[in-house]
Amino acid sequence: MTYDLAGFPGAALNAVPRVELGGLPTPLLPAPRLGEALGLPNLLLKRDDVHPLGVGGNKLCKLEFHLGAALAAGADTVVTFGALQTNHGRQTAAACAKLGLRCELVLTAKVPRSGEAYERSGNLSLDRLFGARVHVCADGEETGRVYDRLIAEAAAEGRTVATVPVGGSDALGTLGYVAATRELAVQLADLGIERARVVAPHASGATSAGITLGSALLGGLGVDIACVSHPLDEATENLAQLVAEGAALLDVAPPALDHVRMSDSTIGPGYGVPTDETWAALRLFGRTEGVVLDPVYTGKVGAALVEWAAQGRFAPAEHVVFVHTGGLPGLYGYAPEFAAAVETGDSLAHLGDARDAQ
Ligand SMILES: *Cc1c(COP(=O)(O)O)cnc(C)c1O
Repeated sequence: MTYDLAGFPGAALNAVPRVELGGLPTPLLPAPRLGEALGLPNLLLKRDDVHPLGVGGNKLCKLEFHLGAALAAGADTVVTFGALQTNHGRQTAAACAKLGLRCELVLTAKVPRSGEAYERSGNLSLDRLFGARVHVCADGEETGRVYDRLIAEAAAEGRTVATVPVGGSDALGTLGYVAATRELAVQLADLGIERARVVAPHASGATSAGITLGSALLGGLGVDIACVSHPLDEATENLAQLVAEGAALLDVAPPALDHVRMSDSTIGPGYGVPTDETWAALRLFGRTEGVVLDPVYTGKVGAALVEWAAQGRFAPAEHVVFVHTGGLPGLYGYAPEFAAAVETGDSLAHLGDARDAQ
């Protein structure tokens, strides 16, 4: 096969502590109707949103390594951070429930959204459903104070704490997506697909860093990254750092990044603020494939895919793999805007699908 699985540092990767959360490999499926709409006949979706644990999502790949390390260190308590509607927090809560670990989520209102849906529903309700203790903080200063208090409490009670960074993005999280990229390469090879471009998000960074590093080690894969949180300059720096840290853990030299293209053209006003193009991408994926994107991450990557396809970025016969990283519960944090966006869709006859007019 094209992908260099023999040269891949599989032994080094397999030697890193990891806990299986199940559900792998996630499906890799063709998306012919979406592909036709975009002029990309060989479009595939890598469904990392489809997983039996905690409603699924990309953080589970990283958490296999973070929680593997936590268990190896004898931890019984996991603390992590995020925005109110963090998908990472929800997946951490679910994984901790499954493993019998105590989960403390320290959340901050860092997105300019408010209201019942955003502040109480979506991921937040699921965090509590999965038994996590949720600590809502006003700002970074309060976050620091709450974290210090949780550490002191745990010490007083003789508990051992493992701290997972925002979004699970550090060297271990990067390894999660190196492993996921190996999984993807095996699936592509099984389909006889020897080269592909992988479309991925950048927010806290370990997803795209792992795909970048994994692709460099495997060969045959290019990477197109859409920034959804940090602007291009910050994201580029963050990506290079995580790739280097991940490579160091595997004891390989940090690769050149010639196979990577990165853009922040669909980030809009900022993290967590959907644009018209975001909602249009949700409608397009929904109408053509019955697939749900989310307004914070995958909707902006979907908008980037639409833009890149229109610009002719991909060769017509090129295989393009859109990595669906999840986020469905977050959509319900945006329930009023979501409802308005699909009601608009009732009269989208001009988009060319006759059924919209009926
Ligand atoms: C966290 C997240 C991302 C971004 O992944 P990073 O590794 O943080 O860059 C993309 N999509 C969804 C649904 C997420 O929850």
